[in-house]
Amino acid sequence: MKMMMYGVRDDERPFIEQWQEQNHIDVQLTDQLLTEETVDQARGYDGIVAFQQLSYSNRMLQRMTEIGIYNLSLRNVGVDNIDLKQVAKLGIKLTNVPVYSPEAIAEFTVTQLMQLLRRTKEYTQKFEKHDFRWAPQISKELNQQTVGVIGTGHIGQCAIRIFQGFGAKVIAYDKFHNPELERQGLYVDTLDELYCQATVITLHIPLFPSTQHMIDATAIAKMNPGVIILNAARGQLIDEQALIDGLDRGIIGGAALDVMEDEIKVFNRNLGDQKIDYPEFNNLFSRDNVLISPHTAFYTDVAVRNMVEVSLNNNRQLIETGTADNLISTD
Ligand code: NAD
Repeated sequence: MKMMMYGVRDDERPFIEQWQEQNHIDVQLTDQLLTEETVDQARGYDGIVAFQQLSYSNRMLQRMTEIGIYNLSLRNVGVDNIDLKQVAKLGIKLTNVPVYSPEAIAEFTVTQLMQLLRRTKEYTQKFEKHDFRWAPQISKELNQQTVGVIGTGHIGQCAIRIFQGFGAKVIAYDKFHNPELERQGLYVDTLDELYCQATVITLHIPLFPSTQHMIDATAIAKMNPGVIILNAARGQLIDEQALIDGLDRGIIGGAALDVMEDEIKVFNRNLGDQKIDYPEFNNLFSRDNVLISPHTAFYTDVAVRNMVEVSLNNNRQLIETGTADNLISTD
């Protein structure tokens, strides 16, 4: 059995080597992403393991099957950058890593909220200029906030536990109610109720056509003045121009974005002095009350180890049995 692994970073290599030693399976590694130009490198292999923000193009998928590979295992959870209809049509078996460390994303989200509440970006800028006065950056306390959690799956539940640990009031919205959170009486019935009550809104739902731009001008108009918005889910959940307008009008008091609509133009690249051709990014990045991080919420040692090990196990299972526990349904 032979597997080809694309988009490999140095921090993944020790976990991959460990897995190879334990499983006695040859895994060929490349730091290149999986594209129609690079897919031919996998000719002769039984399966591909990949991870990237870049879309997996339909032509790449087609080429993959032409060279006889039908087993594709992603090292992340999201499958919004791959055309599942094409996957089904070509007979490709696709797996993901549904859970690798919800704590990593939840902890990062709370960290960003604390930074916004304590205005650390402004303080850092002042301190760099040797201005060590406190005022006027008076801060807010997390225990005084009403945090509206949208999406109470793996990450949302972790975030709720942490917010509650800080003494914040938590309210939640989800299409499906978790029995324990239901027992605690956290759920509101509508998003409008959540928008009306929350002083902080945090997104932990997947991107679907129905959730794209769910935070738009209409939603923002219903929110509490000064609300803080946190997004470590998917960039396209927020209409960035509407977010900018909301910040300009003071309806939104701050935002932490670990994901952005067009993040692929900027994130995970060293752009140095290059001009960034992404007006919404430039606008948001320049603001004192907006924190942008390059899709790093997941990036911890625990998460990376799990992403490597589970994706390799998935690919092995596909090759050996033709199916896998973490097979993505393409129905
Ligand atoms: P999950 O599947 O465990 O939970 C998602 C929750 O959203 C579920 O409870 C589901 O019922 C709910 N939901 C789905 N559609 C909804 C809708 N229209 N309205 C209300 N609720 C809805 O997923 P998770 O592991 O908690 O991950 C959440 C999201 O976080 C992922 O989809 C992914 O986009 C994102 N994510 C980001 C990073 C990062 O590094 N920033 C890492 C992993 C995941």
